[in-house]
Amino acid sequence: MLPYGRQSISEADIRAVAEVLRGDWLTTGPKVEEFERALSLVAGGSEAVAVTSGTAALHVAYVAAGVQGGDEVVTTPLTFVATAAAAAIAGARIVFADIDPATGNLDLGSAEAAMTSRTRVVAAVDYAGLPVDAGAFAAMAHRHGALFLEDAAHSIGSVLGGVPVGAAADLTTFSFFPTKNMTTAEGGAVVSPDAGLAARARRFKGQGLVRDRGALRFPDEGPWHQEVHEFGLNYRLPDVLCALGISQLARLGEFRRRRQQVHDAYNRAFAGNPELTVPGTVEGAVPAWHLYPLRVEAARRRAVFEELRRRGIGVQVNYIPAYWHPVFEDLGYRRGMCPAAEEYYSREISLPLFPGLTDGQVEMVIENVLEVVGS
Ligand SMILES: *Cc1c(COP(=O)(O)O)cnc(C)c1O
Repeated sequence: MLPYGRQSISEADIRAVAEVLRGDWLTTGPKVEEFERALSLVAGGSEAVAVTSGTAALHVAYVAAGVQGGDEVVTTPLTFVATAAAAAIAGARIVFADIDPATGNLDLGSAEAAMTSRTRVVAAVDYAGLPVDAGAFAAMAHRHGALFLEDAAHSIGSVLGGVPVGAAADLTTFSFFPTKNMTTAEGGAVVSPDAGLAARARRFKGQGLVRDRGALRFPDEGPWHQEVHEFGLNYRLPDVLCALGISQLARLGEFRRRRQQVHDAYNRAFAGNPELTVPGTVEGAVPAWHLYPLRVEAARRRAVFEELRRRGIGVQVNYIPAYWHPVFEDLGYRRGMCPAAEEYYSREISLPLFPGLTDGQVEMVIENVLEVVGS
């Protein structure tokens, strides 16, 4: 079965990992800082904090933003549940706002309509890799005394209006899961242009430990002295995986170009077909496309999906609206809340999209989609 996404691992990636395994540091060594510096460069100079997954990155980012019991977080339902779950774990009540049906991204107006005096964070997702207007979301959030978090699990390497993802939001999170735009097996990062937020993120992912002599509260007990001022967890990404990340980051441009070529080929084949809706984009965006979310007629979605799978094409659906999960149902959330997101979900099928797809495989996917929807 042709998967909908998969990693691309080169011999150079393998050498980079093997070299660390032969060295002295498996966990917190020099590759962590090197990876964080390289991430900072693709994120427009924002400070980067490497962590163990995209979910961990979200948890760290919500905590760094100060989210706690009684706060509200406004977010999109058209996402992997972690965007909302991590905020709920931090104590927030989740408020879902609807999407822009053209792009699948959180709609700025719907998000603003959901803001209250208790909103601590607005969290948008760069759905499929298309960046949201982070500057506009941040300005809106700040007007309401909140922070803006960009879940960029899909979009590392994307640019909007010349601004790279990671430069404009208060906090941006990445995922390096194998299907994403680059991988460290499991891994993620939080980036922030705000040194204070980055410092809180760094402390929380490192068990809350404070070792900087200038920041200690009590007299120095000796060289072993360290203090915890706020509780933290261990979300440290090991040196071995940071080495893979450094090597993968160097290939991000190549990945982005190939993903764009495949996306363009799908668009050429499907745009204008009355049965199909191709993914929307926005003026000034240079996306690193993670997904190709095609939309078909809702009544036929399941049949088209199953027939494509039967033909060896590993399509996926991204995503079941987050508040349809029973955990939200148990909290009183009901279907129908965000009609545009539900409509998008009901029609969506993600086609295979990854750098290793050959032109022949892309043609094969196109022919099969046209046959299946045409029949
Ligand atoms: C993948 C993903 C995450 C979670 O990342 P993991 O690395 O799998 O924990 C969060 N948000 C979105 C939108 C994702 O696609």
